[in-house]
Amino acid sequence: MLARLKAGFVATLMCVAACAPTPETKANFFVFGTLVEVAVRGADAGQAESAFTEIQQALQRMHRDWHAWEPGLLTEINRAFAEARRTRAPEDIDALIRMSQQMERESGGRFNAAAGGLVRLWGFHTSDYPVSGPPPSGEAISAWLETAPSTLQISTSDGWLESSNRAVQLDFGGIAKGYAVDRVIEILARHGIGSAIVNAGGDLRAVGGSAADPWRVGIRKPGGGVAAGLEIDGDSAVFTSGIDQRYRQQDGKRYPHILDPRSGQAISGLASVTVVSQDAWRADAAATALMVAGPGEWRALARDMKLDKVLVINEAGDMIATPAMARSVILEPGQSGHLQISNDP
Ligand code: AMP
Ligand code: MG
Repeated sequence: MLARLKAGFVATLMCVAACAPTPETKANFFVFGTLVEVAVRGADAGQAESAFTEIQQALQRMHRDWHAWEPGLLTEINRAFAEARRTRAPEDIDALIRMSQQMERESGGRFNAAAGGLVRLWGFHTSDYPVSGPPPSGEAISAWLETAPSTLQISTSDGWLESSNRAVQLDFGGIAKGYAVDRVIEILARHGIGSAIVNAGGDLRAVGGSAADPWRVGIRKPGGGVAAGLEIDGDSAVFTSGIDQRYRQQDGKRYPHILDPRSGQAISGLASVTVVSQDAWRADAAATALMVAGPGEWRALARDMKLDKVLVINEAGDMIATPAMARSVILEPGQSGHLQISNDP
């Protein structure tokens, strides 16, 4: 991946006026195991190019520093926690910890970025999917559960990090892509670009669309394709968490890479959850938390977390949307009968 990354971004500094009312300039980056496409509107070529150069460097650094298992800043921090040592808190990681703590609190522990030890136990610290072989033993899972790691056991002060629990192993897999997308939007804003879409493999944030000239995006569907369309005329992130791409397989049974930190087990019941929220980090982490909440709890959790735009696809393929989400989506003709609206929240 890093080798591919170093190849640099593929900038297509050209207007695709035929595709949109306002000319767009685009660049592609390979990072976080996915293609990140940045499209900006209304910027001149020089402005866009200098923003893209900075984005390229920033994404490369984020990928390296936040990696959960390739040696780097995060693995060093995890080592310090395991050895009960205090360690320096790089600014970005400090921010990721605070956001993760907030999401762990709000989700009642369903989102837990300190569960890296469990993710490793399940063999999901890999880029090679699907993983094959049996899931971890009940004893191994119980032993992990007894250590009860939580991001709330990490104290952050004066640029230092410390964990009161040696079992805390940070894994930002459920939030990092979102935060990276937010950082890219920030870089664009610093370069004076306020109308842009940052699309990381179907998870995206769009800014600067207007009612007259909205960004049109698709909601990712399990197994590929688009579940529904969405028009964004303000500042919104659209993130989907799903079970289709990364899982462990044994005797025909699939164990998704999203784990319930309360039971130590792989989740079941939902095929995907899409959350629309202003910040991409929040949409990303919330989609993961709602996947853990599952068919019985996602509505109540969405209400508690004040997420008004949620679209869920269950294992049977039914689409269920909150009322605000149902009002925003654009369905293909003949598709509308397949959308159920949840009256709660
Ligand atoms: P996402 O695709 O955004 O739902 O994130 C899934 C990734 O987040 C996994 O590959 C793990 O690295 C990590 N993860 C799995 N389960 C959880 C959880 N319950 N809370 C936080 N992160 C998780
Ligand atoms: Mg997520």
